[in-house]
Amino acid sequence: MKKLGVFMVSILLVGSLLAGCGSTTSSKTDNTASGPKDVNAIKSRGVLKVGVKVDVPKFGYKDPQTNKTDGFEIDLAREMAKKIVGDSNKLELSPVTAKTRGPLLDSGDVDMVIATFTITEERKQSYNFTDPYYIDGVGLLVKKAGGYQSLKDLNGKKIGVAQSATSKKAVQAEADKLGIKITFQEFATYPEIKTALDSGRVDAFSVDRSILYGYLDDSTVILPDKFSPQEYGIATKKGNDGLAKLFNDTVNELKKSGELDKLIKKWGL
Ligand code: GLU
Repeated sequence: MKKLGVFMVSILLVGSLLAGCGSTTSSKTDNTASGPKDVNAIKSRGVLKVGVKVDVPKFGYKDPQTNKTDGFEIDLAREMAKKIVGDSNKLELSPVTAKTRGPLLDSGDVDMVIATFTITEERKQSYNFTDPYYIDGVGLLVKKAGGYQSLKDLNGKKIGVAQSATSKKAVQAEADKLGIKITFQEFATYPEIKTALDSGRVDAFSVDRSILYGYLDDSTVILPDKFSPQEYGIATKKGNDGLAKLFNDTVNELKKSGELDKLIKKWGL
């Protein structure tokens, strides 16, 4: 009797496992019929989860007075939400930094990152990127009191850069071109670099010019140098190929229709 009982349980287990497989297969088939699985998951959730910068004025910036996050990249994220869930307001924004944006994609906390994320060959190994929606350049923020006019004047000086950013390599290449010697100090965040600049621990703060504008104040100036073009793309997790295609198609549609240029004008970029 006991043996029979165990046998019956086994049959039930195998039966339910098979039923489970069956339903996965049929839902996969359904998904294929109505669109990619990764896109459908967002459609049924009804909201697009987006990683954005909150400290880059005009791109992704959270106004401390209103607590509202706005910018060119937020508007683009709205276009993506409109495309997927049919409503440009169905967005859930998460603040990201240069260091956290990749891990937040990996963990699935966000569906996409639109956060001054430069497309590089190395990063393309880990994430899917759309075609560029904007091209910035690397620049330098210095204290007015230092009297520096350009990167050339920073010979022998120390430059503050962020870990996981493209800046160090870009400044080094430019310094090599000019034949000057510079050293670097790396920091985890941009506010730390600004503090180091203010206290004289570094002589310049280097990153994309769009990001530097967020740290410009009465005591500092952005030098005219603009080098190493930074092409910004929307990043998605590898494997979410339906999403990657949809975002890329949307970026290209916005380019073709002139909408992208309108947004660039709207934000004064
Ligand atoms: N855009 C550059 C990068 O992706 C600067 C860093 C940043 O975006 O915070 O590395």
